[in-house]
Amino acid sequence: MPNKKKMPNKKKSIFFFGNGKAEGNAQMRELLGGKGAGLHEMTRIGVPVPPGFTISTEVCSYFYAHRRRYPTGLETNVAAGLARIGKILGRRFGDTDNPLLVSVRSGARESMPGMMDTVLNLGLNDRTVSGLTRRANNARFAFDSYRRFVQMYADVVLGIKAKDKIESDPLEAIFERKKKARGVRFDTELSAADLEDLVVAYKDEIKARLGKEFPDDPMDQLWGAIGAVFDSWNNDRAIAYRELYGIPHNWGTAVNVQAMVFGNLGDNCATGVAFTRDPASGEKHFYGEFLTNAQGEDVVAGIRTPRPIGELGQVVPTAARELQRICGLLERHYRDMQDIEFTIEDGKLWMLQTRTGKRTGFAAVRIAVDMVGERIISKNEGLIRIEPDQLNQLLRPIFDQQTKEKAHKQGNLLGKGLPAGPGAATGRVVFYADDAVEWKKRGERVVLCRIETSPDDIRGMDAAQGVLTARGGMTSHAALVARQMGKVCVAGCEVLQIDYAARILKVDQAELKEGDWISIDGSTGEVFKGEIQTLPSEVLQVLVAGSLDPKKSRIYQHFAKLMKWADAVRTLGVRTNADQPDQAAIAKAFGSEGIGLCRTEHMFFQGDRIQAVREMILADDETGRRRALAKLLPMQKQDFKGILDIMGSLPVTIRTLDPPLHEFLPKSDDEVVELAQVMGVPVEVLRNKVNVLQEFNPMLGHRGCRLGISYPEITEMQAQAIFEAACELRREGKNPFPEVMIPLVSSRQELHEQRTIVERIAKETQKSYGVKVRYLVGTMIELPRACMVADEIAEEAEFFSFGTNDLTQTCLGLSRDDAGKFLPSYVLQGLLPADPFVSIDQDGVGALMRIAVTKGRKRRKRLEMGICGEHGGDPKSVEFCHDIGLDYVSCSPYRVAVAKLAAAQAALRKKH
Ligand code: ADP
Ligand code: MG
Ligand code: MG
Repeated sequence: MPNKKKMPNKKKSIFFFGNGKAEGNAQMRELLGGKGAGLHEMTRIGVPVPPGFTISTEVCSYFYAHRRRYPTGLETNVAAGLARIGKILGRRFGDTDNPLLVSVRSGARESMPGMMDTVLNLGLNDRTVSGLTRRANNARFAFDSYRRFVQMYADVVLGIKAKDKIESDPLEAIFERKKKARGVRFDTELSAADLEDLVVAYKDEIKARLGKEFPDDPMDQLWGAIGAVFDSWNNDRAIAYRELYGIPHNWGTAVNVQAMVFGNLGDNCATGVAFTRDPASGEKHFYGEFLTNAQGEDVVAGIRTPRPIGELGQVVPTAARELQRICGLLERHYRDMQDIEFTIEDGKLWMLQTRTGKRTGFAAVRIAVDMVGERIISKNEGLIRIEPDQLNQLLRPIFDQQTKEKAHKQGNLLGKGLPAGPGAATGRVVFYADDAVEWKKRGERVVLCRIETSPDDIRGMDAAQGVLTARGGMTSHAALVARQMGKVCVAGCEVLQIDYAARILKVDQAELKEGDWISIDGSTGEVFKGEIQTLPSEVLQVLVAGSLDPKKSRIYQHFAKLMKWADAVRTLGVRTNADQPDQAAIAKAFGSEGIGLCRTEHMFFQGDRIQAVREMILADDETGRRRALAKLLPMQKQDFKGILDIMGSLPVTIRTLDPPLHEFLPKSDDEVVELAQVMGVPVEVLRNKVNVLQEFNPMLGHRGCRLGISYPEITEMQAQAIFEAACELRREGKNPFPEVMIPLVSSRQELHEQRTIVERIAKETQKSYGVKVRYLVGTMIELPRACMVADEIAEEAEFFSFGTNDLTQTCLGLSRDDAGKFLPSYVLQGLLPADPFVSIDQDGVGALMRIAVTKGRKRRKRLEMGICGEHGGDPKSVEFCHDIGLDYVSCSPYRVAVAKLAAAQAALRKKH
C-alpha cells in the first residue's frame, strides 16, 4: 500500500562524506546532527576522516511517525552508500576475503554525551573474520575486533544487560572470568585463541538468553544497529537528559555509518581523545589522553590507565605531529576550543569527531581572553561566548581536586543536593545558628546543617563556612542568603535525616554527630563526610582581601580584562543589594555603581538591637514607641554612615522598614517567657502582643509603607538616621548620596504621606547641621496596582525600583514560601517556562513592568528606574531589564560581575 506521508522525494535521506568531498557541512547540524556535521566539515577541509554517510534526523522523525518503519528508498540508498565507501577503500561489506567493517554512531543536534549508543566493527561473522585475519595477517586483532563487536551489539542492539544492580553485565562477566582463568589483568594480554573462545561463549550466552542465534548476515546486523540507534533516542537516559537541558524531544538523532579504522592492530596503533586547550583551566596547551593497541571507548571506560597526550610522540612521532597540526587547523577553522576523537592505525592518523568543547568558568574566561589576544575572535565575540553564571566559579573557594577524588574513592560521598551557592566548604557539623557563632568564636570552622533556614539563622550562616539544608529549592531562604553572602550552600539534600534533638545527621548507615567533619561542594551539590582541603579564590584574594598581588594572578588578570570590556559596551548600570558596610565594601571592590537596596531591618537583628526593636513593638503608645526608637536611632545612623561612607558619592538606596512586626518577636513560648523576664513585663502582656500581631497572610498584611503610615514615628526615626549620617559625612567634606525608598506603595497618596515626612526631616536635619545633601525620595514598585497607576505615583517619586520578588508573588498570586509544593513540578511540566523567582516571568510580571516604565516616564521624563529583586543577578532578567530601558539592576555583591557581563551581552545582542 502506497504510503501517503512519504518522505518528500526531493529530500535526501543520506549524505555521503569521504575522499575530501562531503555532501554536508558544519551548518547542517539540524539535519546531520552535531557529530555528522563535524565529520562532513572535517572531510571538506581536508582532514583525514574515514569515509561514511549520515542518515538524516528527518529519517528518525519519519521512523517514529510511522511505527518504526523507514521511508521508501532508504534501503537502496544505504546499500549505495556502503558500495561507495567500499570503492574508496577497495573493500566490500560482507566480503569474505577483504571485508569492509563499519561503525554505526548516533549523533543528535546537541551532543548528549553517553546518552545514546554506538556499535563498532560491524560486518563481522565467522567467515568475514577469516578474511580480516588474512588481510591484516593478524588473528589476534581480528578476533579482538570480533569479540568487541559481539559484546557491543549484544548490549546496544539485542538488549543483553544486567537484570538488576546486583547482577553484573553478563558478557562482561564472561570476559572477566576469561582473564582470570588466563591469569591476566588486561584485555591486551589475551591471545587470539582466547578471544575466539570468547566469541563462541558470548554467542552461546546470547542464544541461551534470547532463544535465537546472533545475526550472521552483515546487512541484518546493520539494520539492527540503525534501528537501535534510532531507538536509543527514546531510552530513559536520553529522555531524562533532554528534560534536564531543555532539548526538544522531536529533534531526533542522525545515524552515521562510517568505515572502521583500527587502533587495535598493534603497538603502532592508538586511540584517544583530546582538547585543543585545557578545558579546566583554559590554558593554551594540548590536553588529552590515549591508549595504544586499543579501540573506541577504551580510553574513557578506564579499561587501562590512559597515557597523557604528550607521550604520543614517543610512540608514533609522525602521527603525533600531524595531530598537533590538525588540532590547530580545527581550532582556527571553528574559532573555538575543540574536543576531538582520533585513532591511529599503523602510524596513520584518522579523525573521528570534533566539537566545541565544554569548559569550566575558568576555562571559558581564559580561552575567550586569549583568543581575543590571538586575534581569533573579536572582543565582542569573547564577551558573548561566556555564560555569565560561569563567572561565579572564579569567585568561590575550591576543593583541591585530587583530595576530592580520593574522597569519592573512599566512599565518603553522602549524597547530592542542589548546587545553591557555588564553591567549596569544609568544617565541623553544627545544627544551630548560635552554635555556629559560638564555635566560630572558638576558632572552629563549621558547616551549618539545617532541615531549612530562617531569618533567625543569618548570623549563624554568616559564621559558617557553608550551609547545608535537607529541604528547599534554589530560591529557598538558605540559597538566597547564601548567594548574597557569597556563602557556599547545598540546599535540599533530601537523603539527609537531621535529628535536631539528638544532634545527629544520618544518611543510610552513615551517621555524623555534632562536631564531626563534613565537606560540601556548592558547585556540584555533593556532600562528603570528612575534611577536604579548600583553596581560596584568587579573584577574591586580589579584590577583597588584598592578599594577592594582581600581577601574580593570571585568573584575576583575565577576569579584570573581561570586566573592562564588559564595562565599555554595557549601558545598564549595576548596583548591589547590601545591608552592611562589609557587604558594601565587597560590592565596591567588584565595581558596583551604587547600592540598589539596603534593607534597614536586617540591622535590627544584630547584637542587642533586637531588644530595642522589641521594646518599640511592645510599646502601648506613641510616647513609648518614641522612647524605644530613640535607642535605635544612633545605631541605625552608625550603619548608614558606614555604608554611605564606603560608597563615596555613589547612590545608596535605603528602604524604610518593610517586614511585618511579628518577625521581630520571639516565637516559642519559652522564648516569650524569657523575654518577658528580661524586659520586666508580664508574660501575659507579651503573649497577648505576639498573638495580636499574628496575621493570616503576613505577606499581604501589615507591612511595607503601611507600617510607616500607622506609625509615622518609625519613618521619622529612619529618615533622621539617614540624614544625620549623610550630614555628618558632608561636614567631613564627603559627598554622600542617599536615596530614600518607600516599600509596598500602591497609591500616590501613600507615597505622598511618607515622602512628606522624609522631606520634612531632610530639611530640618540639613538646617541643623548647616549643610546640603544630595538625595532622592522614591518608591519600590512591587504591587500590580502600583504598575497600573505608575503615572500618578511618578508625581511623588524621583525614582522607581522594581521589587520583583513581591511583584512576582502578587502578580502570579502565589506565595514564595508555599510554592515549593507545586512550583517545581509546574516548571517540569512546562506550565511555566522557568521558576519565576529565579528568572522574571516576562509575559506576566514583565508586562506589568513595561506598563510602569511607560507610565512613569510619561509623567516624569528623567525618572530613575532600576530593579532590586533577586532577579537583578539573573542573566536573562538582566537582559530583559536592558530591553525595557531600566537604568540599572541591583544584585547581591558576588553577582556584580555576572550582571555586568549579562548587561554587556544584552547591549551587544540589541545592536545586532
Ligand atoms: P560517543 O558519541 O559516545 O562518543 P561515538 O560514536 O563517537 O560515540 O563512538 C564511540 C567511540 O568509538 C569513540 O571513541 C569513537 O572515536 C570510536 N569510533 C567511532 N567510529 C569509529 C570508526 N569508524 N573507527 C574507529 N573508531 C570509531
Ligand atoms: Mg564520540
Ligand atoms: Mg518587597
